[in-house]
Amino acid sequence: MKEINILYLYPDILDLYGDIGNIKVLQYRIEKRGFSCKIDTYSIGDMAPDFSSYDIVFSGGGADNEQKILSDDLIKYKDNIKKAVLEGVFFLLICGSYQLFGKYYKGVEGNIIPGLEVFDYYTEAISDRKKRCIGNIIIEALIDGEETKVIGFENHGGQTYDTNGNFGNVLFGNGNKFGDLTEGFMTNNVIATYLHGPLLSKNPKIADYIIKYALERKYDEQIDLEELDDTFEEKCREQLIKRFLENN
Ligand code: GLN
Repeated sequence: MKEINILYLYPDILDLYGDIGNIKVLQYRIEKRGFSCKIDTYSIGDMAPDFSSYDIVFSGGGADNEQKILSDDLIKYKDNIKKAVLEGVFFLLICGSYQLFGKYYKGVEGNIIPGLEVFDYYTEAISDRKKRCIGNIIIEALIDGEETKVIGFENHGGQTYDTNGNFGNVLFGNGNKFGDLTEGFMTNNVIATYLHGPLLSKNPKIADYIIKYALERKYDEQIDLEELDDTFEEKCREQLIKRFLENN
């Protein structure tokens, strides 16, 4: 039986707004198709993980204080993580984790949290709390060559600069900066985004994109995922798109 191994980073520290839901959606959509899903967690004090041995690495959002707490620990794995990214392990990074994979995150108090420098972008929190990016957000992303509306919720003071290759273009909400037109960062095996929601519960297509990528990379063959009944998810998406795009 084909198996996908997932590493879930800092589940006890980086779980703002239920980002654990992304792990649950991945597990459900992997197992529903008859594949096996093995989930390991890592947090401060645990044995160092071998990032290259995983198919997917997931890390969620966190408030400035949580980011400060774990940054010294995360930095220890800078080289291992860079190596895993280059080898093609899929990284799904939400908000605070997205920020920490860049050069640095300057918190709202002005303190600099060094990032992993895996990517060249950097983030600085906006001091004007009225410009904190909070609310529903819809972007348009290119997924498997298809323009796809991606729906979520954002809550970040961080303003991210110098992304080279965004996750999507903002249709409603803020994105990388207050009033920005672009959101997140994406490469072949990385989706880094401000979208909570949880992201994958509102966007099953993104979940399947990640699952398909991970299976095809691991087993070196084309994998056509069996369609799942997403009637409920699609009805929810229709309502949200209507509410935020058609009525505004
Ligand atoms: N603390 C970061 C910010 O305020 C990230 C917040 C989050 O993960 N939702 O920008």
